[in-house]
Amino acid sequence: TDHPKYLVTGGAGFIGSHLVDALLARGGPVVVLDDLSTGRLQNLAGARERGNLQFVHGSVLDEPLVDKLVGECDRVVHLAAAVGVKLIVEQPLRSFTINTKGTETVIEAAYRHGRHVTLASTSEIYGKNSSGPLTEMSDRVLGSPSVPRWSYSTAKAVDEILAELYRREYGLRATVVRFFNTVGPRQSPAYGMVIPRFARQAVLGEPLTVYGTGRQSRCFLHVTDVVAALVSLLDRPEAEGETFNIGSDEEISILDLAERIIACANSTSTVHRVSYTDAYGPGFEDMERRVPDTTKLRALTGWQPRRDLGDILV
Ligand code: NAD
Repeated sequence: TDHPKYLVTGGAGFIGSHLVDALLARGGPVVVLDDLSTGRLQNLAGARERGNLQFVHGSVLDEPLVDKLVGECDRVVHLAAAVGVKLIVEQPLRSFTINTKGTETVIEAAYRHGRHVTLASTSEIYGKNSSGPLTEMSDRVLGSPSVPRWSYSTAKAVDEILAELYRREYGLRATVVRFFNTVGPRQSPAYGMVIPRFARQAVLGEPLTVYGTGRQSRCFLHVTDVVAALVSLLDRPEAEGETFNIGSDEEISILDLAERIIACANSTSTVHRVSYTDAYGPGFEDMERRVPDTTKLRALTGWQPRRDLGDILV
């Protein structure tokens, strides 16, 4: 057929289910491999009605299964990962293993079958992005073990290195996408992402908890724009062997975000500031800014976000 058959690991999750919707809308057959640990079949309800979707309940750690599915598909998008602050902080070793072994299993199968694979990485691999003279305590490429999500960002960095080594030595066909903060429908509030958390607190009339000064800023991209960027890269052979940031460059401080959400929700909530130390223990300060440069993505694909923060918050 004209349409390649895609294997989407983690396709029952937040970003994955939106990608599946987009791939099916283009007419292509899709196979989803998901263990439903954080994903939900409900996320694929619309996709299942369209047909052309095969759902496989299983793990990316299952080598024979991954090998079989990769062999049956033309291309792979690997999104499956242990995510969410709670899971990663409470079970760092288990999530590290899923996020490295799972990726290795997928990469290995992709290389064996000569398939192109797109790997989901994260803005967290940039660490705290400090500059100036480096001390032993400065952030390294692989981060600092005292940072709560260190095991997560480290695993993603390892995944990127692994893909690069497979590319150099075996000619693996791979593209890395580094997602920045993504928001939209089907995102579980359990992950501790700030917008769903603020929205829930505002609706319940509870105080919105802001860590630190609240002057730290973040950028949020709507999941449909994330998926549009991803799909535009899938269409570009030049993306092979390259790494791309996918995110919004519209910055907002966390304090402003809290106030805008309170206003949007017509809520009586107040803003409650909590120190990082009280929230996470000593030694943890979140980075001041985390803004992606998306020039590379835009130059190659012509991608532009369709929704701004105003559209996201309503
Ligand atoms: P998600 O939890 O909704 O999706 C992850 C999916 O992987 C879930 O459906 C889960 O059930 C599945 N999964 C977990 N372990 C598995 C295993 N062993 N085998 C098979 N499936 C498994 O989270 P998401 O936000 O959609 O994340 C998708 C990808 O994007 C992840 O790789 C994540 O690290 C990355 N990412 C997300 C963001 C964001 O802002 N949402 C930012 C940066 C990177």
